[in-house]
Amino acid sequence: MTPTAAPSAAHTVTPALESDWAYSPAPETVKVAIADRYSHFINGKFVAPRKSGYFSTVNPASEVPLAEIAQGEAADVDAAVKAAAAAQPKWASLKPSERAKFMFRIARRIQDRARELAVLETMDGGKPIKESRDVDVPLAAAHFFYHAGWADKLGYAFPGRTPRPVGVCGQIIPWNFPLLMAAWKLAPALACGNTCVLKPAETTPLTALRLAEILQEVELPPGVVNIVTGDGRTGAALVNHPGVHKIAFTGSTEVGKKIAGAVAGTDKRLTLELGGKSPNIIFEDASIDQAVECIISGIYFNQGHVCCAGSRLFVQESILDEVTTKLRMRLASLRVGDPLDKNTDLGAINSRPQLEKIEHYLRIGREEGATLHAANASPLPAKGYWCRPAFFTGVQPSHTVAREEIFGPVLAVLSFRTPEEAITRANNTPYGLAAGVWTDKGSKIFDIARQLKAGVVWLNTYNRFDPSSPFGGFKESGFGREGGRQGLKAYLCT
Ligand code: NAP
Ligand code: MG
Repeated sequence: MTPTAAPSAAHTVTPALESDWAYSPAPETVKVAIADRYSHFINGKFVAPRKSGYFSTVNPASEVPLAEIAQGEAADVDAAVKAAAAAQPKWASLKPSERAKFMFRIARRIQDRARELAVLETMDGGKPIKESRDVDVPLAAAHFFYHAGWADKLGYAFPGRTPRPVGVCGQIIPWNFPLLMAAWKLAPALACGNTCVLKPAETTPLTALRLAEILQEVELPPGVVNIVTGDGRTGAALVNHPGVHKIAFTGSTEVGKKIAGAVAGTDKRLTLELGGKSPNIIFEDASIDQAVECIISGIYFNQGHVCCAGSRLFVQESILDEVTTKLRMRLASLRVGDPLDKNTDLGAINSRPQLEKIEHYLRIGREEGATLHAANASPLPAKGYWCRPAFFTGVQPSHTVAREEIFGPVLAVLSFRTPEEAITRANNTPYGLAAGVWTDKGSKIFDIARQLKAGVVWLNTYNRFDPSSPFGGFKESGFGREGGRQGLKAYLCT
């Protein structure tokens, strides 16, 4: 008998699925006009930066600069905070149903301009058009609709109290869901009678600036929402501004810790939505095909640029081979490429530094002894930042790829034998943003969910969002909730 040779390298490549048919290109046909240059949006007008000038925002799928964006300095932030402070008493004293009318108008205009916003989001950030079109933009509109509904019902949300707005809110958002994160921040703040200064991420400012145009169209009173673009220094200037009453931050745990330090000892309120390393636990009694499908979207959705991505997969030992085989097959059918093609599953990585970070983890995973399974689908475009979806098997809990947030399309597969072991391993992380459980036993679902230390636990599904459902973390994933009645609390003195 010839001994079977062990695989020579800790790296297997799954070839593209052989088939006698292929998708034809399905390019997005809507063309979006982008100005050469964008200024800050302060007190209802677009105003040039006081000092520093402009930087480029780039299309990560082509590396082509899309527009020049104003770099915000302390003086710009100051002007925006003053405009917000001046507008706040009037906005708060509007009849709540009148505030709601503005918000309903914003929501409807987002719907009217949905395709334009989706195309712009995809061009600026690299995510597939089918996601920006079907997820980001509809959910952004839904957040304004939902919170518009709360504006005149705040007394019912907190019975026996007289809720009052907090004042001026400084809101800092990341690049993975630019318009959606803007909606998550602005909608509850406005419903509660606050005014805002929003700082979008430097790589994806375009949809927030398009939203500013919508705010002008609906004649939102000047100063109620101000948008100052720029990099981390602009964010820091906002955090440190004495006229800001509340900071709401979504981003990395590293920057979140800095902001917590800066705010400590001041009377500013703070909510932090930070990173994650979320577990997805699949038991042998689960519907495996359904689970694999959701696990795939749970990690490869938006190229894995999702804070709550199910990036650690715990599989019961008896079904490990079956699940890994199915994952490998499904991986081979994912289409990576032009984000503006409607058939694309994974678009471009948001920036070169993010791509380098993911490549670093792919390297380190192999060096530490895990086996990498990567899809080898159709050739990738020559320009742009691309990463094929991948997963690691043979991962130990101590491996870096099982512990640190990669924020890319890379899954770490681990195994377990008993429910107790699954819970211990899943909770063995400094993060606590989300988790998934897959089983057909109702009693097991509730027993496991109760013991998982995560802000959201999805049962037999993953990555489901609704404005009425609170979202937020435990431990180093942050504190405070966004969405639902709980999300209003951060924007009210009760
Ligand atoms: P990031 O580097 O922390 O940046 C987030 C935002 O903060 C950006 O607007 C950034 O500006 C700004 N910023 C950077 N340094 C700052 C400072 N010192 N003071 C104030 N603001 C500062 O995060 P990212 O890389 O953009 O986003 C990825 C991270 O966000 C991941 O860790 C992910 O898990 C997390 N995230 C969490 C959630 C959640 O809900 N929990 C949702 C989405 C993303 P620049 O863009 O110019 O750097
Ligand atoms: Mg960009």
